[in-house]
Amino acid sequence: MQIRNKLTYQFVGIVASVLLLATLTIFVLFAEFRERDFYLRLNEKAVATAKLLVDENDVDAALLKLIDKNLRGVLPQEKVIIFDSSGKEIYNTDDEKIIIVSNELLTEIRLQNEVHLKQNEFEMLGLNYTYNNNKYIIVAAAVDIYGLRKLKFLSIVLVIVFVISIAAVYFSGWIYSGRALQPISKVVSEVDRISVNNLNARVDEGNGQDEIAQLAKTFNKMLERIEAAFNAQRSFVGNASHELRNPLSVLRGQLEVALLKDRKTEDYKKTMESLLEDINHLTIISNRLLSLAQVSGVGLIDPKNEIRIDDLLLEVRSELIESIPEYTVNVSFESVLENEDSLLFYGNERLLKIAFFNLMENACKYSPDHSCLVDIGAEGKNIVIHFSDKGVGIPAEDLKNIFEPFYRAKNVLDRKGHGIGLSLVDKIVKLHSGSIEVDSTEKRGSVFTVKLPVG
Ligand code: ADP
Repeated sequence: MQIRNKLTYQFVGIVASVLLLATLTIFVLFAEFRERDFYLRLNEKAVATAKLLVDENDVDAALLKLIDKNLRGVLPQEKVIIFDSSGKEIYNTDDEKIIIVSNELLTEIRLQNEVHLKQNEFEMLGLNYTYNNNKYIIVAAAVDIYGLRKLKFLSIVLVIVFVISIAAVYFSGWIYSGRALQPISKVVSEVDRISVNNLNARVDEGNGQDEIAQLAKTFNKMLERIEAAFNAQRSFVGNASHELRNPLSVLRGQLEVALLKDRKTEDYKKTMESLLEDINHLTIISNRLLSLAQVSGVGLIDPKNEIRIDDLLLEVRSELIESIPEYTVNVSFESVLENEDSLLFYGNERLLKIAFFNLMENACKYSPDHSCLVDIGAEGKNIVIHFSDKGVGIPAEDLKNIFEPFYRAKNVLDRKGHGIGLSLVDKIVKLHSGSIEVDSTEKRGSVFTVKLPVG
């Protein structure tokens, strides 16, 4: 159900309950008032008749009946019956015998002094009357035509007022909730218009203060993040295809030159060796791109294993030295570790190997002595690893960008590289809830510090 309908129904529900309570209260109070008032008048009539008949010696039943007939109109269809103490009827204006007074009723009146009851449309009052130690019972009955008519009229008025009020409340509630929700509908339709083609569009933030403005601001912040991610993705794809196209063009060029004329076996061998080198280069790039894609897709990560960080670093060191023998990597323990178990870490071995390999390789690659020092230590609940070199360092203005994919500092553009390694390292470390920092001075060297939380 739409919020607008819900709000309207709730509004109508609340007002209808209050109105119904008020209407019923008015009706019940009026009905009680009418009844009380009518019985009071019946009582007055009964006592007046009894006084005339019993107290006044000059008035007998026949005369009283005559008086009563002529005074008709005091109460509609009024009947008065009077009994003496033995229960004998001494006066009765009910010629048609409509009112039935049983012996049980007389006994009840004697006991209770005053009894109210209904017979057909007649309201009846029975009461005891005493004069000169003689006890009488008077029964007076009449139909409250006017009172009941007023009550009926009141009920019709109340029902009509109730229905009209509810209809008015429904329409005003519908308009009011529509107006209250209009800014939300506006935000919804504005958000609806935003697609991949106009991610730079923003939602109107209105007065900038109310809840709707907060909602619009939140949408805009989300759009900013989506746009940034989208742009990063776009430039990543552009950079990646550029990185792959370049070596492919070189390969193609070499093959075209080789095929221009017939050559000696020696020349073909040289060309093929060069091609193999380029293909190896391509393989490295595509492997790194694949790793980067895998690190970004959490579902592709292997389950976490227990790893000893020092063993893993030594393993990576061996692999690096094996593939590039002129590199030197020294692994040392920064401080004497109290507990060897503090180097135990739960993580993805394959990914951590890639990260450490990149950091060691960079340190060796960008330093004239091709050497790297790896220090392992513990700091609180973190394993801390420093990768230091005395190499070319990183210019201050490039420092903030070196973790961006494909970014390379301008002082290393003459060396081979693709700018993928560090962004991969950054993602892998963050995937393990760790952090990476760099401290570097151009021409002096760099220190990359990786912190991995244990447990
Ligand atoms: P690549 O080494 O393939 O260029 P990386 O992503 O590994 O790509 O590194 C990004 C950039 O960071 C490098 O191009 C280089 O400018 C800088 N860099 C990384 N490590 C070092 C280092 N140890 N010394 C100096 N510069 C470094």
